[in-house]
Amino acid sequence: MGTTLLLANLIDGKLCPAASGRVLDIFEPATGKVFAQCPASSGDDVDAAVAAASRAAPAWAATSVEERARLLGRLADLVEAEQDSLAELESRDNGKPVHVAAGVDIPRAVANLRFFASAITQWSSESHAGRPGSINITLRQALGVVGCISPWNLPLYLFTWKIAPALAAGNAVIAKPSEITPCTAARLGELSIAAGFPPGVLNIIHGTGPEVGQAIVDAPLVKAVSFTGSTLTGTAIAKSAAPMFKKLSLEMGGKNPAIVFADFDFSDANLSTIVRSGFANQGEICLCGSRLLVQRSIFSEFRERYLDKVRALRVGDPKENDSDLGALVSKAHFDKVMKAIAEARDEGGQISCGGNAVNLEGRCADGWFVAPTVVEGLDSASTTNQQEIFGPVVSLIPFEDEDDAVRIANDTDYGLAASMWTQDLGRAQRLSARLEFGIIWINCWMNRDLRTPFGGVKNSGMGREGGIDALRFFTEPKNICIESR
Ligand code: NAD
Repeated sequence: MGTTLLLANLIDGKLCPAASGRVLDIFEPATGKVFAQCPASSGDDVDAAVAAASRAAPAWAATSVEERARLLGRLADLVEAEQDSLAELESRDNGKPVHVAAGVDIPRAVANLRFFASAITQWSSESHAGRPGSINITLRQALGVVGCISPWNLPLYLFTWKIAPALAAGNAVIAKPSEITPCTAARLGELSIAAGFPPGVLNIIHGTGPEVGQAIVDAPLVKAVSFTGSTLTGTAIAKSAAPMFKKLSLEMGGKNPAIVFADFDFSDANLSTIVRSGFANQGEICLCGSRLLVQRSIFSEFRERYLDKVRALRVGDPKENDSDLGALVSKAHFDKVMKAIAEARDEGGQISCGGNAVNLEGRCADGWFVAPTVVEGLDSASTTNQQEIFGPVVSLIPFEDEDDAVRIANDTDYGLAASMWTQDLGRAQRLSARLEFGIIWINCWMNRDLRTPFGGVKNSGMGREGGIDALRFFTEPKNICIESR
C-alpha cells in the first residue's frame, strides 16, 4: 500500500501546512483509495501568500528577462529530469494512463516552461513616430501579483501553461491547482525552490475552490486572474472580480463538434485521430470532440468503421501500457458521467457502444472506469448534445450539407474548438469563417502550437492565452509619448 503522501503549500519560498492544520484526502481514481493529503487551506493562507508575493513582486519585475528566463529554463530542466516519476504521479492522481502522462502531460509542462522562457526574451514592445518631433513608446509592465487557477484534467500541463507566462512577464504568482489533482503542482513547487526562484515569486496554495480560489479572486492586491475550469465557476469568478475591475482570462467548457464531410479520406490514421479526439484522456479534455457530425451520404460506412475502432479501445489499469483509457478522475465525476449516459437513454438515445461502468479485477476493482460510449439518434436540442459531459461519451449526428453542418455545429452555448475533415480546402476556408469557435482544426485535432492564440468564444471563454497573447494578458501597456523640445 505504501505511506500517504503529504503535500505542502509553498509560501514565501517555504513549504508549510495550512495555517489551520487541516488536510484534504486525495484519491487514486484507479483504486478508489486515498493515497495523498494536501493542505485544506483557507483565506489566511492566501493572505500570507499575497503578502509574500507583494513583497517579492517589485524586485522580480526589475529582474532582467534573461535571469527570469534562466530560472524558468532551470525549472524546466528539473521537471524533465523527473519526467518518469512525475508521469507516474500524474497518472496516479488523475487516473489517466501513465503512457499518456509520460507522452503528453509532462513533456508539455516542460515545453510550456521553456517556451515562455524563450518568448519573454524575444518580446519587444511597439513604438511609432507621432506628430513631427514626437515618438510613442509602449511600455509593458508586469501587473504585480496575479492569480492562476487550474483544473484537474491536465494538472501539470495547465498549471505550467499559466504560471510560466505570468512569471516570465515579471509577476509574482499565487497559484492554485485543483484540489482533486494537486500532486504534481506540489512537486513543481519543491523544484522551484531548487531552481532558485526568489522567495515569494511563486506561491502555491492548495485547497478547495470556494475557500482558496475565491480568496485569490477576492484579494484586492491580486491584479489579474487566469482561470481554467468550468463555465459555472468562471461565471462566479467574473461576478466577484467585476467590481474590482480585475483583468480576467477565462478558459472554460466546451461541446466541440468534429465535422466529417463525404470526401473524408478513410485512412486508418484519420479514423484513429477522430476516435482519439473523442476519447483521449477518457474524454476529459476541454478540446475533445463530443459531437461527431457525419455527412449522411457516408454515415453508415463511417459509423461502422468508427464503432469498430471505439469498441477496440481498452479500458484498463492506468499503469499498463496497453490501456487506452484509464479511470475517471473522481467518484463525483464518475457519477456525473453515468448520469449523463442514463439521461441520453431516457431522452431516446440509442447507445451504440459502451454505456456502462467497467469493473476491473485486482488492484483496480474499486476504480472509477467507464466504457467508451457512443450515443445516436438525438437531435441537436437534446440535453446530451447540449451539456458538457466531459467524459468518454460521443454523440453521433448525421447532417445533409454545409449549411446543415454549420447550423448543428454552432447550435451550442459553447465555442471552444471545432475540427473539420474534408479534402476540399475551399470548403474548409469557407466554413472556418462561419464556425463560431476560437480554434478550428482542419484534418487534425489538438495540433497545438504554443505560439497560437488559445481560447474560446461564447460560454467557453473570455480572452486568449498562448504565445504573445499570454504575455499581453500578464502585462499592462503604458503609452509614453516623448516630444523633442
Ligand atoms: P472547476 O471549475 O470545478 O474547477 C477549476 C478550478 O477552479 C479548481 O482549481 C477549483 O478549485 C477552482 N474553483 C472552484 N470554485 C472556485 C471559486 N468560486 N473561485 C475560484 N476558484 C474556484 O473545473 P474542473 O471540474 O476542475 O475542470 C473541468 C472543467 O474545466 C470543464 O468544464 C472543462 O471544459 C474545463 N476546462 C477548460 C479548458 C480550456 O482551456 N477551456 C481546459 C481544461 C478544462
